[in-house]
Amino acid sequence: LMGYVGFANLPNQVHRKSVRKGFQFTAMVVGESGLGKSTLINTLFNTTLYPEKEPLPPQAERPSTVSIESISADIEENGVRLRLTVVDTPGFGDFVNNDNSWKPIVENIEARFDAYLEQENRVNRQKLVDNRVHACLYFIQPTGHALKQIDIEFMRRLHTKVNLIPVIAKADTLTDDEIVAFKERVLSDIAHHNIRIFQAPIYDNEDEETIAENEEIASKIPFAVVGSNREVRTSDGRSVRGRAYPWGVIEVDNEDHCDFVKLRQMLVRTYMEELREHTNDVLYENYRSEKLLGMGV
Ligand code: GDP
Ligand code: MG
Repeated sequence: LMGYVGFANLPNQVHRKSVRKGFQFTAMVVGESGLGKSTLINTLFNTTLYPEKEPLPPQAERPSTVSIESISADIEENGVRLRLTVVDTPGFGDFVNNDNSWKPIVENIEARFDAYLEQENRVNRQKLVDNRVHACLYFIQPTGHALKQIDIEFMRRLHTKVNLIPVIAKADTLTDDEIVAFKERVLSDIAHHNIRIFQAPIYDNEDEETIAENEEIASKIPFAVVGSNREVRTSDGRSVRGRAYPWGVIEVDNEDHCDFVKLRQMLVRTYMEELREHTNDVLYENYRSEKLLGMGV
């Protein structure tokens, strides 16, 4: 399963650290229904963690709150123990009034901080279970216009609690030019609202190739993604994961077609350790000290 995403290819140093600690990584996906969250998770892990669901008929009863569902997989590869968890948040943005859609998500993230804090406060703190959310993929509807109020509200409420990684959903529905323009607009909206998204750090003590690779990743944010677990046939006869259109095939794993490969590289190869460190050293630490201050400690 994991061979595909490349844990075996983690840089040696990260690899060794992870062997020592045991590896726990939790990613959350948030965004309105139908934007392809479940599909992208399946595409990332090259499996069907989420069975395909029939869309609800309009008259069907819908849940009235955001629910939080998590799926974990325990994996061992090359002697590295991995516990990988994906937290899905169905219902976000689905209601008549979505003013508080962000709330159950903040509560969930804080509850995970609290659970970690509680373990740290124990006398015996040998084996800490880390269920904190290390990255949050936020799915933006490919409108081609601007961020919506619900996007801004969510990111404003969450950016101090979690590493935000914005993605433009269903990028195959926009032209290349539209994607370029939309990315610019999204980034300027984010800056305008003082929202901090995860910054991929670029270390100048790395070799040139690595620096170039990291700059390439940073330049793609917000990643324009396409998800699909279907194999389709291209006009030149290759079988690829992608989406077929009358005019041709959009290939998920082709970097000229979308940013899926770069997103995967960022999450599971280049920046997994940074995402974990930033969560622990900055986001969790801020939460912890505010909480202690609040208790008058
Ligand atoms: P979720 O509600 O966000 O989990 O969305 P799903 O993953 O269930 O996908 C909703 C619908 O969008 C399904 O019919 C998918 O096949 C389709 N879909 C998923 N990803 C993409 C994509 O990248 N491009 C396009 N065009 N459709 C997609
Ligand atoms: Mg879903």
